Amino acid sequence: MEHIIIIGGGGTGAALAHDLTLRGFTVSLFERGEFLSGTTGRHHGLLHSGARYAAHDPVAARECIQENTILRKIAPQALEANDGLFVAINESDLAFRREFLDSCRDCNIPTEELSAEQACSFEPALSPNLKLAIRIPDATMDAWRLPMHFFASARANGAKFHNFSEITGFHKAHGAVTGIRVFDHTNHREYDVKGDVFVNAAGAWAGQICSKAGIKLPLQPGPGVMVAVNGRLTDMVINRLNRAGEADIIIPQRGLTVLGTTVWLAADPDKVKAPPEHVSKIRDLCAEMVPAAKAAPIHSIWSAPRPLIVQQDAQDPTRISRTFDCFDHKERDNLDGLISMIGGKATTLRAMAEQAADLICKKTGREIACRTQTEKLLHYRIFYKAN
Ligand SMILES: Cc1cc2nc3c(=O)[nH]c(=O)nc-3n(C[C@H](O)[C@H](O)[C@H](O)COP(=O)(O)OP(=O)(O)OC[C@H]3O[C@@H](n4cnc5c(N)ncnc54)[C@H](O)[C@@H]3O)c2cc1C
Repeated sequence: MEHIIIIGGGGTGAALAHDLTLRGFTVSLFERGEFLSGTTGRHHGLLHSGARYAAHDPVAARECIQENTILRKIAPQALEANDGLFVAINESDLAFRREFLDSCRDCNIPTEELSAEQACSFEPALSPNLKLAIRIPDATMDAWRLPMHFFASARANGAKFHNFSEITGFHKAHGAVTGIRVFDHTNHREYDVKGDVFVNAAGAWAGQICSKAGIKLPLQPGPGVMVAVNGRLTDMVINRLNRAGEADIIIPQRGLTVLGTTVWLAADPDKVKAPPEHVSKIRDLCAEMVPAAKAAPIHSIWSAPRPLIVQQDAQDPTRISRTFDCFDHKERDNLDGLISMIGGKATTLRAMAEQAADLICKKTGREIACRTQTEKLLHYRIFYKAN
């Protein structure tokens, strides 16, 4: 079978390796750092229900609820099925209620309205100003363990993984990519690898990978800051019942609570800071939902870049769609052998992989159905045991 080279060892690359090995392809994956050291290992850990996007980004919302349902079946041990609440604290939140409920219904996202009293009975840390809450099927995921299930399953099926192995260039012949140049950071040596199809799964770095091949990608790194505070302030995921904005989410992660997030556009995904004013904004706005968020001791502050697809008409970065796409550079740039998968969420990693693997089947003239919707994933521990 054809040798498929995946560039980038984040959640998307891991899910693609799993999908392709199930379809019988030979797979090699190269990651410049430790696996998941890009954005995947640094996100909030929210398994989106899609409710956050239902009103303004229904495509992404439908993708999220579909994948939320699938991941609960194929990797239940990586998730905490704790559900989420959208909470109304003021009149402006209440005014959004009808549109929110209607959009969730249109995107097949189940909702249940709760009175303030009902919601506070199981989440007592909620604000005394709470007016009502809407329950939706959000969940907490383990940002590392979920994709490690995909790595474990792919390796068991024959995929070869190379960490600390950076792609520094491409070899081309007759209008097609034929190989990659790899720098091995462990042994400080360079070598070449040949392949049949090359997949750029480098997330917010995907634009840099394309420029090494002499082409442009419509990708915009969109960083955000997250703040973890000590203590599990709530058991459910808490979202503000408003249009997608900033600092509107609280996620319990084991004994910590992650508060998030902000969004801005950056040129270089390796130069992303966590500005102090973002931290105070996140604390202040999250405290409107859960007052204890304001004073809880800070455990850590970090940031990561989103791999956003460029949208010329979107002035406000909170409004850039969180959907995903897969580009065949033969069609876009007349360069065969290279495809890029960009955008999406950690929640939609499996669906992104399915779309890319379908394209690889088309390019290689094979008709092999995707099996990842129902195939249970191996436990992440098996990845380390196989080492
Ligand atoms: C602030 C923030 C919060 C988020 N919260 C959530 C959330 O709660 N839930 C959710 O579903 N999604 C969330 N997301 C989105 C989600 O994290 C990303 O969409 C997803 O992790 C992207 O995965 P990826 O595999 O495409 O990219 P990455 O995980 O970034 O993987 C790409 C990899 O490519 C590697 N790479 C780069 N250059 C090279 C090279 N030259 N050679 C080899 N490898 C290279 C990088 O090191 C990296 O590991 C959040 C994103 C941000 C920024």
